[in-house]
Amino acid sequence: MEVRVKIIVTALCHTDVYFWEAKGQTPVFPRIFGHEAAGIVESVGEGVTELKPGDHVLPVFTGECKECRHCKSEESNMCDLLRINTDRGVMLHDGKSRFSINGKPIYHFVGTSTFSEYSVIHVGCLAKINPAAPMDKVCILSCGVSTGLGATLNVAKPPRGSTVAIFGLGAVGLSAAEGARIAGASRIIGVDLNPKRFDEAKKFGVTEFVNPKDHHKPVQEVLAEMTDGGVDRSVECTGSINAMISAFECVHDGWGVAVLVGVPNKDDAFKTHPMNFLNEKTLKGTFFGNYKPRTDLPNVVEMYMRKELELEKFITHEVGLSDINKAFDYMLKGESLRCIIRMDG
Ligand code: NAD
Ligand code: ZN
Repeated sequence: MEVRVKIIVTALCHTDVYFWEAKGQTPVFPRIFGHEAAGIVESVGEGVTELKPGDHVLPVFTGECKECRHCKSEESNMCDLLRINTDRGVMLHDGKSRFSINGKPIYHFVGTSTFSEYSVIHVGCLAKINPAAPMDKVCILSCGVSTGLGATLNVAKPPRGSTVAIFGLGAVGLSAAEGARIAGASRIIGVDLNPKRFDEAKKFGVTEFVNPKDHHKPVQEVLAEMTDGGVDRSVECTGSINAMISAFECVHDGWGVAVLVGVPNKDDAFKTHPMNFLNEKTLKGTFFGNYKPRTDLPNVVEMYMRKELELEKFITHEVGLSDINKAFDYMLKGESLRCIIRMDG
């Protein structure tokens, strides 16, 4: 069930940097990072029927086996077999790595390892896409952009004309804003502690901004005042527990829905008064925007092809593989949304 893929372009996402820094997780070393990418199938192993050499694919850090209870459920994308596993550095089939140097293994990362000219990936972690789609654009759909977009379109589901608050205006939050724009929200309120993010966010249809630091009262109260009682939908894309609580409490009673996307710290606990639930505020969370990688990603690529979804504005930098460290610098300095890395450069 393995496929060798020639990686054409890859992009740098925060998760790569997080695992590269190896703070607080099991370090697996040496390992090839990279999980946002696009490539072409070079050869297929035994058991692979859905892909053939020449097919264009997006590798995805979480898979879809199509056979487990989750894959068979319309409501879930949390595949039992291929769900993200950040500690595993080997292939499922034989527990071995497909990369080596001087006879010693180099480990895989989240089943993708795309900072490499070729990678071996389980067929369940590859979405087959339209070969006419430009790989240097749609590669960013293989992680962050789909997560934010799906959080809004698949989970928050804002009705046309509604008011949506987005907490955190990084690549994930701006993708959630792009989802709100596509859904026809009339007001998109961006909330971030970093005012530098506001200029960029204007390109993503964010119409108003709130910096919690500019107010003496909790930001949920500020939002309630701005919106006659609360926003219709909120999407949290920060990873901060305080922002998660604010994102829930700022929705309107009776119909408001909040969606959590950010990954919290290990010891965080979510605290709110249960009366908020009795007042018919809804709290949800999502993994990879509830998209099933193989079934749904090809359709997200088609949204881009039909020009319903814009990707160009996310791509702020571009380098060749030999300059990949520059992509890390841009991200660490907070200068880039997405830096794409061309493998032939
Ligand atoms: P990012 O660091 O680029 O952006 C986060 C933004 O949140 C920053 O602009 C920061 O200033 C802002 N922020 C931080 N604390 C805040 C607060 N208390 N109030 C308001 N704004 C605050 O990150 P990103 O790449 O856009 O990712 C966002 C989150 O999504 C991360 O936690 C990431 O781990 C998570 N994520 C989740 C999934 C999933 O499937 N659930 C997938 C990918 C990423
Ligand atoms: Zn499955």
